Amino acid sequence: MDSLPVTNKNWRTTFERIEKFISNTYFTDVNLYGRLYGERQSVDDISTSGQTGRISYETAIGLEYKRATIGQSFGPTWATHWFLICINIPTEWIGKEVHLIWNSNSEAMIWKNGVALQGFNNDRNDFIISKQLREDQLSHTFHIEMACNSMSGAGDHFIGPPKPDKMFTLSTCQIAIFNRQVYHLIQDLDIFLCIAKELSEDNPRKYQALYTANEMINLSRNHESTGYSKAHSLSSEFFNQHNGDSQLTVHAMGHAHIDTAWLWQYDETKRKCARSWASSIQLMDSYPEYKFVCSQAQQYEWVKDSYPELYQRISKFVDDGRFIPVGGTWVEMDGNLPSGEAFVRQFIYGQRFFQKEFGIKCKEFWLPDTFGYSAQLPQIMSSAGIERFLTQKLSWGLINKFPHHTFWWEGIDGTKCLTHFPPADSYGTSATAADVLNSVGKLKDKGRTKNTVLLFGFGDGGGGPTEDMLERLDRLKDVDGIPKISQSTPDQFFDVIEKESSNLCRWIGELYLELHQGTFTTQAMLKKKNRKLEFMMHNIEFIYSMLVAVNDIKYPSMQLDNMWKKLLINQFHDVLPGSCIELVIQDALKLYDEIETEGNSLLQLGIKALTRHKDNEGEKEIFIINTHCWDRSEVVTLSGDIFKLTQPKNKKQKTDIKTALNSCGETLALVEVPSMGYSILQSPEDKPIPCTVKIEDEFAIMDNGLLTAYIDRTGRVCKLLHKRTGRNAFKEDASEAFYGNQFVLFDDVPLYWDAWDVMDYHLETRSPITNIKAQTSITEDCGLRCAVSYKLAISEKSWIKQDIVLDACANNLVFNTQVEWHESHKLLKVEFPLDVRTLNATYEIQFGHVQRPTHGNTSWDWAKYEVVGHKWADMSEFGFGVSLLNDCKYGFSAKDNVLSMSLLRSSKSPDANADMGTHHFNYSVRPHTGTFQEARVVQAAYDFNNPLQVMAVKSPTLDAKIMSYFKVSNPAIILDTIKKAEDRDDALVVRLYEAYGGHSTGFLITSLPFQHAIRCNILEELKPTETIDINNGTIQLHMNPFQIISLILSFDLI
Ligand SMILES: [Zn+2]
Repeated sequence: MDSLPVTNKNWRTTFERIEKFISNTYFTDVNLYGRLYGERQSVDDISTSGQTGRISYETAIGLEYKRATIGQSFGPTWATHWFLICINIPTEWIGKEVHLIWNSNSEAMIWKNGVALQGFNNDRNDFIISKQLREDQLSHTFHIEMACNSMSGAGDHFIGPPKPDKMFTLSTCQIAIFNRQVYHLIQDLDIFLCIAKELSEDNPRKYQALYTANEMINLSRNHESTGYSKAHSLSSEFFNQHNGDSQLTVHAMGHAHIDTAWLWQYDETKRKCARSWASSIQLMDSYPEYKFVCSQAQQYEWVKDSYPELYQRISKFVDDGRFIPVGGTWVEMDGNLPSGEAFVRQFIYGQRFFQKEFGIKCKEFWLPDTFGYSAQLPQIMSSAGIERFLTQKLSWGLINKFPHHTFWWEGIDGTKCLTHFPPADSYGTSATAADVLNSVGKLKDKGRTKNTVLLFGFGDGGGGPTEDMLERLDRLKDVDGIPKISQSTPDQFFDVIEKESSNLCRWIGELYLELHQGTFTTQAMLKKKNRKLEFMMHNIEFIYSMLVAVNDIKYPSMQLDNMWKKLLINQFHDVLPGSCIELVIQDALKLYDEIETEGNSLLQLGIKALTRHKDNEGEKEIFIINTHCWDRSEVVTLSGDIFKLTQPKNKKQKTDIKTALNSCGETLALVEVPSMGYSILQSPEDKPIPCTVKIEDEFAIMDNGLLTAYIDRTGRVCKLLHKRTGRNAFKEDASEAFYGNQFVLFDDVPLYWDAWDVMDYHLETRSPITNIKAQTSITEDCGLRCAVSYKLAISEKSWIKQDIVLDACANNLVFNTQVEWHESHKLLKVEFPLDVRTLNATYEIQFGHVQRPTHGNTSWDWAKYEVVGHKWADMSEFGFGVSLLNDCKYGFSAKDNVLSMSLLRSSKSPDANADMGTHHFNYSVRPHTGTFQEARVVQAAYDFNNPLQVMAVKSPTLDAKIMSYFKVSNPAIILDTIKKAEDRDDALVVRLYEAYGGHSTGFLITSLPFQHAIRCNILEELKPTETIDINNGTIQLHMNPFQIISLILSFDLI
């Protein structure tokens, strides 16, 4: 070094000199990268199986193999090709590090003797055959399983729909001597480049890094080992200059975010897990500090079933605390759309799996890539033994920057959880010096905390950490000017920040992502099935719980577990939100069909068992079940042979049943059923006021004594009179075409994320739909129900047909809607301009509700131009309000007095056919006095989604013609779920929540002979100090606002 002349240095030329010295593209004939490999030889003995499906290794090795060549193409998309390669390494290579280099421009897995060794992809083409070749390692035989897809599927561009006929070329299959000394120097120089680039100009380390790297090139330019060694000593000197005590610590954790399905199907994910996890644990021997965090119990179960040998090896690393299960859920589910009980089941199935397999209960909720987070999550995760939460997705928000990275997140009930957003704003960094610097530089809570997380490893399609990443972390561990790095577990990180937590700020309410709001609407069929089947699971569990209690009939636990798991997997954050490819939609719909078929059969059997029917004996009777915890009185449709059962047996006998024959020849009956119970067809004492319909002055006028609706020729409800207050629910504004039930079409062209995003500017493209195909006409007028129908053209190809229905005694006007939808980048909404002045609208979420502004005072307010809600949304002023109920929609917007619901989108990526075709959905409006709580909107929305179960049953031998198993004395307390206890056959679990947002007391009353009640968490772990008295079947409840309580009720001692 002393002999080299001192010269002036130009920043740019010096910087780019270093870049070129390690470039894998330029000057490789003379640069350092060109020396990374020594001798190379092609592997000539390659043979292939031809195209197969996703078969096991055992099947694959039995196949016939034919010669394959480099340059040969394999396909089509999603096919699998197996290869057999036989390698003979020259004896001269003994003592050297020898790699196999494989590049099939696709994903692949290398196998030997049944062991899945490592994944290949574009980021990982090397497999280390030996770090120091021995004499007995000269011959090798491997199998390689080539999957004809890339890490991100097979689209033309990142989120483009997959091309079915893609071919993948085998471009490299070689063995080579690997020069580890060169590799280390490349890593050193790469880091210096990054430090020189990232540090600010007033930081001397920026220049030291650049100058050190420059000197290293001077020393190693002749490519002699001694020069390399001298260069390496220079770098070591730099890396050994340590940090002071004040430096912040970055807790680095290896990770491979694997989408359970997205641009590929569930079945490919099974292999992605195996490839990523095999690669990940393969690095563990060489890098003893390295730890890998891994979520989603479902993926563990897949690997356990399909790769038992790999799973065993993984389990050992789990025991060692290096392969770390995180999250505690079955899959990384969407954070907005699943019901409260579905959230609960994610944790039950996830935590129980990890407990059973590894004796581990996750302490942190892990959802780095989901599109917003419900304000009910802190309470649910806390009840699953989880008080900590990690995500980073809010960094994607377009409008406002979230003000914290480490903070207390407080849910609607007041439960707090310690939350961290890794400041590098990614769940898949490459652990570069830039990532490490960003982990501290971008931290919003400097001064409050000295610790952050860095997740490293390729993600989405899997891949995980690479050797390069671990080498970088090793070098940067404790270097002056760079944050300290500790390869930590989530527990270690959260334990440390918990100690600092008294300084942390609080964020109350939902974590709203200001992006991806289209996922509340895209792929309407998935959303519809999800809602329907969540209720079906509720009904089945209620009925079989009663059977366990009353008839001592076995609970179908295994079947229900399988059905739940299918429902939960479809709630994955790229499936239910609708951001996946068409093949995944087909898979998801198949799973829904399976649940539905099995569920229907369970329901039929269950109802028959509950009525203790006797086949072939006696008369049929109509049995009606109410699975909700309040009495119901409503009009039901009795189809088929049920009609004659409602008629008097002889003419003299007077029926007390309020029935009518509708225009389809079905019987309608106004029935009464008690809370969580049944009745053999029974009607209310009082005769209902009949509903009427007439056409007058271009309006169809429907009236049931509670509501009068004036509907124009295009189906718009120009006036909805609430008789009790005399108020019109809607404010007319003919000049702007704002009417009740006005369909509107918007241009829906996102900036990039097609299936995901509804942009703010769509609001500038409002276009009312008024083109009549069939004007309003009366289609039902039978006293118990009246209806009018009409049809509108949306475009030449698309149309809407709607029945507007009013039932006797109903407080809702119902809109049963069919849409034939063939649009491109259009969004269909329906609007209700309410005659209500309020600054906030209320939306149902899981086990509660949230309020969001109807104005745009601040950027945080107007950024909520499209929001999520579940079964209802409401706008109320003092004394009066209007609710909008739905049976399968989730996207809403409220601007000034206009409440809108998003109905259909028409995105083209990643599913080119998303939402095309026929849709059926229902919604209703409910004007009310007082608050939505006083108007029992919560209950009405449950009922709207879950019609009474009606069945004709032969000879029921019930003790009573009417029965209520459970009721709750206070309507603020909803008994949402009844199920058999997970670990006991003689106990039930009931889950209740406070729905109104206030302190509520009341009684849970049961007619079942329970002896004991005890509080438990959602995992059904008992709280022995919280035994609760049951007096004559009555349990007193004291609930805090939005509190969720689970109780185990047993017939014997607990
Ligand atoms: Zn994801």
